[in-house]
Amino acid sequence: MTLAPYASDPTQSRGRRHPEPGAPTRNDFQRDRDRIVHSTAFRRLVYKTQVFLNHEGDLFRTRLTHSLEVAQLGRSIARSLGLHEDLVEAVALAHDLGHTPFGHAGQDALNQCMAQEGGFEHNLQSLRVVDGLEHRYPDFDGLNLCFETREGILKHCSRANALRLSAQDPGGVAQRFLDGTSPSLEAQLCNLADSIAYNAHDIDDGVRSGLLTLDQLGEAPLFAPYLAQVARDHPGIGQRQRRWLFEAIRRMLSDQVYDVVRSTAQAIAQAGVNTPDEARRAGPLVRFSEDMHAQSSGLKRFLFQHLYRHPQVQQMTQLARQVVLELHAAYAADPSQMRAEFAQRPDRPRAIADYIAGMTDRFAQREHQRLTGQSLW
Ligand code: MG
Repeated sequence: MTLAPYASDPTQSRGRRHPEPGAPTRNDFQRDRDRIVHSTAFRRLVYKTQVFLNHEGDLFRTRLTHSLEVAQLGRSIARSLGLHEDLVEAVALAHDLGHTPFGHAGQDALNQCMAQEGGFEHNLQSLRVVDGLEHRYPDFDGLNLCFETREGILKHCSRANALRLSAQDPGGVAQRFLDGTSPSLEAQLCNLADSIAYNAHDIDDGVRSGLLTLDQLGEAPLFAPYLAQVARDHPGIGQRQRRWLFEAIRRMLSDQVYDVVRSTAQAIAQAGVNTPDEARRAGPLVRFSEDMHAQSSGLKRFLFQHLYRHPQVQQMTQLARQVVLELHAAYAADPSQMRAEFAQRPDRPRAIADYIAGMTDRFAQREHQRLTGQSLW
């Protein structure tokens, strides 16, 4: 792995909150990636909804397979740009650790429950998981990850939360939301890889679920030309729809990867940055070309309209909201229903949010049934 001068360098890391000696054979970003893979929160991602509920089908993406796809795209682009692959992989595998059960519906409901208590943001929750909620080490809470990994995990943060975090940890990972600088190039890359991944796999899952048809996708921004191209190159492939779909998605993914590599290399050269900190001050540099950006945004709007707003997905959203709201009410009324380590915490509202956020879809459903006697699914 040849590192570019603007790549994050584990030997120059801003370090861990609790100093630890280095490892004999692994760099610090590698160790972070390994800690994330061995965490409890990471294994829970198997049973957390991406778009389709986990029990709706075995082949739909879950938060886990989504995160693996983000890591694959991120590493592939990082290698071409000379960025640090291990850091990209660590951030990609951790970026969704803070997601509630049932995807965005769960997070919106929990945010509503926590309105008087500073709200609930899944990015901030991912940081809370790696900073405190994992209990695996004798001397500290959390995974004690490097600054650079934590910086990448805190992708978004409200100003109010950034002020609060920075008061506890001056100059820490929330500082950039106050002074308007960017995260490392590796963190920026994970952001973009995230949206490349979900645009592509949501097309696949949308067709698998029957909520999207190839006819509809023939009108989709960015994607439609690939469907047409594959049909031209492989006459008769219309009879083999899965292969047609996969080949079109493959071509779309490759073109987006090459576009990011080209456009980002150009942006970095134009900005003339030579160190990771110069890159942080230069504004967002990891990017699509203008044309690809416009098309990808169009595809996002198409999926919003035709998939995420589909009545069947919306119905699931309503049930998910109900489960989270009713779980929250039940634990608030009787905290002893939570696992002891949460029931005993003095910061009760946040303890309830942490407990619910950590649940898998199916555990939340079982708990909801146990506490309310209702079976919604
Ligand atoms: Mg994601």
